[in-house]
Amino acid sequence: MPYLTQLADVARRVGVPVTEVAGWKTRGHGPQPEVQGVVCHHTAGPAGGGDYPSLAVVRDGRPGLDGPLSHFGLGRSGHIYVIAAGRCWHNAPSTSPRHDNSSSIGIEAENDGRQPWPEAQKAAYIRLCAELCREFALPASRVKAHREVNTSKPDPHSIDMNAFRRAVAALLDGGTSPSWTEEIMKQLPMVRLGDDNYDVKTVRGCLFARGRVPVSAYEQVGLEDWLKSTRYDSGLVELVRGFQQAEGIEEDGFVGPGTWPSLLRV
Ligand SMILES: [Zn+2]
Repeated sequence: MPYLTQLADVARRVGVPVTEVAGWKTRGHGPQPEVQGVVCHHTAGPAGGGDYPSLAVVRDGRPGLDGPLSHFGLGRSGHIYVIAAGRCWHNAPSTSPRHDNSSSIGIEAENDGRQPWPEAQKAAYIRLCAELCREFALPASRVKAHREVNTSKPDPHSIDMNAFRRAVAALLDGGTSPSWTEEIMKQLPMVRLGDDNYDVKTVRGCLFARGRVPVSAYEQVGLEDWLKSTRYDSGLVELVRGFQQAEGIEEDGFVGPGTWPSLLRV
């Protein structure tokens, strides 16, 4: 698994303000080897000092432990800070092989270790964990408190993790099917110039739904006929290229494993 450069997009799906901390896409103790779990922390930072006074520590580390210390910071307001895309030093030694530094995502929520959790922060915490479970096809049971996977840690304080996980699971059940994994994406067809089949119709429908079909593309034949066409013609190649450019994926003009996830928004 490479650097997790999709983490900002995952965070934005939470529906709260997101700050991409400069340099996050290449920050880490090497790339993230895998994602099998999520570990929730509190920063044990100052009681005051604004929304996320621990940012510099989580990003740069502290004496004896180099940063980054976690992939995400979570401010008191629920604001998410995307800090690193590579491996972070947030849980060692781990009692769970799925929650060590090489296998898990860390979230450091601002809290001094005693003060009550603001509702907005707790709600964002649950939603961020749910979006991470969705992104990496994990069940809610893989979300753990640091204190659950490290015997010497107390964080995050006072959060009932069983209730927390039930809330994560409820969001997963109510949202997009988590079965849209990378594996399923790989089984979708390759659709390209010259094809004439119903998969082409799917591509046309998705492009339209994503707002990537200008009137000029269909004004001659009419929208209905344009959407019904099963032919992958040069006009469609150009629209797919435009979509790929806007999404920041490879502009090859055909629809395969690299493009379906964006097209289907999964
Ligand atoms: Zn911790």
